[in-house]
Amino acid sequence: MTRLVRRHGGLEVEPSIPSANIQPIRCLLPMPDASTEGRTPGGVFVAQHESRGLVISDPYAPCRGCSSCVDGLPEACLQRRCPGRGEDEGGLAERQSCAEELLVDLPSDIDPDVAIWSSEAATALGAMRSVVPGDRPYVSVVGDSAAAILAGELGSQRDSRFRLLCQRQSTLKEAERRGIRARLLSEAGQHGDQDVLVLLDGALDVPNLLQLLRPRGRLVLARPPRISADFFSLFRQQLTVLPSAAASVRSGLEALVQGTLRADGLAERVLALNEVAHWWNQPRARTLVRIGATQ
Ligand SMILES: [Zn+2]
Repeated sequence: MTRLVRRHGGLEVEPSIPSANIQPIRCLLPMPDASTEGRTPGGVFVAQHESRGLVISDPYAPCRGCSSCVDGLPEACLQRRCPGRGEDEGGLAERQSCAEELLVDLPSDIDPDVAIWSSEAATALGAMRSVVPGDRPYVSVVGDSAAAILAGELGSQRDSRFRLLCQRQSTLKEAERRGIRARLLSEAGQHGDQDVLVLLDGALDVPNLLQLLRPRGRLVLARPPRISADFFSLFRQQLTVLPSAAASVRSGLEALVQGTLRADGLAERVLALNEVAHWWNQPRARTLVRIGATQ
């Protein structure tokens, strides 16, 4: 029984811990992140729990005790916990220990390859709540995450002018397979003709994207950007910036089960646990890790 622990930027193999309460079976490979140093990374995983059956991790669970949580704004909670950070272990392991309150119960008959995308679906649903259909015609979703593809799918169901802007060929291919209008960011030009940009990828630089927006346009941030815009450029273009909170993991799961959103084809790459260390520092997106022999 092994687990992958992040040390000095790489991943090292260690034995699983003895006090495990879960056996992860699927994990979405996160981007390397300093906050997981010395721990097993992986904010999103599906696991077999020793007594609860199939569970999925809540990638960012609010504390429910601070003033933000009590005031009804749990997405602004500063003490949000994520498996793989703080005291809780992540999903890149055959056996693992995770706090009970960071786990959401799943129906026993759900396909783990579908359920694993629930939080990405929840992010897409939350972001698209901020885009009112019809009020602004030219809307682009930006990113290479599964959430970006899923938001693109929601958008193109609403309006044929909707499009997805991405950086990876694999994203372009999957978007086209789903009937979403898509373009590479490098080919999108700088026409400043978009009314709304919806950012679903933390790897993007906002300053480079602002020139795609027309004056008085709107920027919806579903994920915090790597490099933010400065206030001056926002002021000069009279832009509105709107953070969007993810919907609940459960509502993401529901959208996948009901077929509003589709999970097939979202993974750019599927790995076994022993292949992960090699890919850890490679450029990648939407990497699904299948752990153990279960299914
Ligand atoms: Zn809180």
